Amino acid sequence: MTDCVFCRIVGKQIPATVVHEDAHTLCFMDIGQVNPGHVLVAAKAHAENIYALDEAQAAAVFCSATRVARAIRAAFSPEGLSVYQANGRAAGQTVLHFHVHLVPRRAEDGMNLTWPVKNPPREKLEEYAALIRRKLS
Ligand code: AMP
Ligand code: ZN
Repeated sequence: MTDCVFCRIVGKQIPATVVHEDAHTLCFMDIGQVNPGHVLVAAKAHAENIYALDEAQAAAVFCSATRVARAIRAAFSPEGLSVYQANGRAAGQTVLHFHVHLVPRRAEDGMNLTWPVKNPPREKLEEYAALIRRKLS
């Protein structure tokens, strides 16, 4: 897609600092660098979000993510690593081309994700799970 910034990076029309590339994925430095070593693992072929990935893309993305995560750990010795991936603007997705963030973490580094747990009763979990199971393909 010509108006997609990550398609333009994949097509080498705009610059990126690449750390790894294979048939299905391009892994490059996030321009914002939440912490040093912050890498994006993007599908090469345009897919807007997780729902649009085929099996080969999905497998390749996680394969690259695990490889690059280990390299980040070896290079930066972070205390932790957050794997973050957003689908849809409500979830915080700003670039509508599928990508996974690998963010090296340290305690008190200022990156916060609020996690407002509801702790519903078991019956609710069963009800939600049944809804999902019915839709699995
Ligand atoms: P998200 O909000 O999950 O869609 O993440 C989009 C990410 O893409 C942000 O962290 C941006 O810093 C990053 N980004 C946007 N444009 C570029 C670019 N040209 N090169 C590298 N990273 C980019
Ligand atoms: Zn794209």
